Amino acid sequence: MRSKPRTILLRYSDNKLGESKGNVIKQVNDTSVMRKILMIPGPIEYESKVLNAMSLPTMSHSSKEFVSIFRDSLLDLSTIFGASPSDSLPFIISGSGTLGMELSTVNFINRNSKVLVVNNGYFGDRFVDLFSRFTARVDQLKPSLGESVDPRVVKEKIDTNEYELMTVTHVDTSTGVRNDVKKIAEITGKSETLLVVDAVCAAGGEYLDMKWGVDVAFSASQKALGAPPGLAVGVAGKRAIERMEKVQPLSFFSDLRKWNSVSRGVLESKGSYFGTPNTNLILALSISLANILDEGMDARIRRHEKMAGAIRAGIDALGLEFIPKKAFANTVSAVYLPDGMDSKKFLADSENYGAVFASGLIKDIASTYFRIGHMGTISATEVMLAIGAIEGALKSNGYNVKVGTGLSASQEYLTENS
Ligand code: PMP
Repeated sequence: MRSKPRTILLRYSDNKLGESKGNVIKQVNDTSVMRKILMIPGPIEYESKVLNAMSLPTMSHSSKEFVSIFRDSLLDLSTIFGASPSDSLPFIISGSGTLGMELSTVNFINRNSKVLVVNNGYFGDRFVDLFSRFTARVDQLKPSLGESVDPRVVKEKIDTNEYELMTVTHVDTSTGVRNDVKKIAEITGKSETLLVVDAVCAAGGEYLDMKWGVDVAFSASQKALGAPPGLAVGVAGKRAIERMEKVQPLSFFSDLRKWNSVSRGVLESKGSYFGTPNTNLILALSISLANILDEGMDARIRRHEKMAGAIRAGIDALGLEFIPKKAFANTVSAVYLPDGMDSKKFLADSENYGAVFASGLIKDIASTYFRIGHMGTISATEVMLAIGAIEGALKSNGYNVKVGTGLSASQEYLTENS
């Protein structure tokens, strides 16, 4: 018996949305024919070169060609993270950022180790949840909403010499707050505490250099690293590798010693196996990582800074407020809606103006704010489109705003900072 035909939304090459039923392709309806730009904090819009790479025939994971692509990706990743390949271990493993969180922690602690979590929101909570599976001794530093952690407070905690490992979320995607990883690394680097940086919403859009004293940093493919979702990536530094040799891994799939031998093999141009790598996705990632290095890290971060600044200028001019007080991220903005505005309707209206934003993520205040992702391919085009969509959606929801106010402020920012 034939199964019921499934309905699949697809995008034509001219970016019109269509619907495929069995082998019949038809447009969904008039409104969805319009192109919508994905501006959530990951997944994001990807370069066509990266997307096209996904459709090439799948290679053998042990072929010379694939091993060479994998090797380039590991080396480029190390460069992007500011790690030196000679005494660090890059990894690229099928999974999402959450796997990165696990890989980057459970290999460096024993059961019941004492750990410290800098918790700026949803993904700080996730670390606490993760650690609770392995140890009851979890302390947290919880800055108030919108604040980054004060490095002096970190120092006081680290000076107690009680913690085997500490985590910090470089940019918490739920709030758009950025922590000062450099200052924190200077503190932990002088202690026995290993520093693990969740760079899922930062790598490729924020300055990050493992040489600051970061022991492990990880990310995922789908955000500012510019490839579709499905890969957990990261680098473990020298101190972390030494610690890893001494602890009993608390997981099987996340046993970094096994993945370590894969990375080492690949870096020596030898096919190595633990779990089958996602060859198509690694090919796509290899292209986006090469693009990042072609652009240059400094130029790339400055572009992200500028586009984030232009978004904020527009939002400011519209009279809306941000969750972050000062420590604004380059990659994502969390913006409060005017009092009482229906966030679901606001988001749906924004889509009709051409931009897809994300809803709030912090439990108690989720309906009071929305999030704009601005990373990867972000350019002035998307900035203007986003601010235009926000103006339109605000107006549709009864907010008293002169259309063009935000656009003009963003445009001014872009021209003043060109
Ligand atoms: N950490 C941060 C800072 C994130 O933004 C995310 C994803 N939004 C994660 C961890 C988890 O990543 P994933 O959803 O890919 O598992």
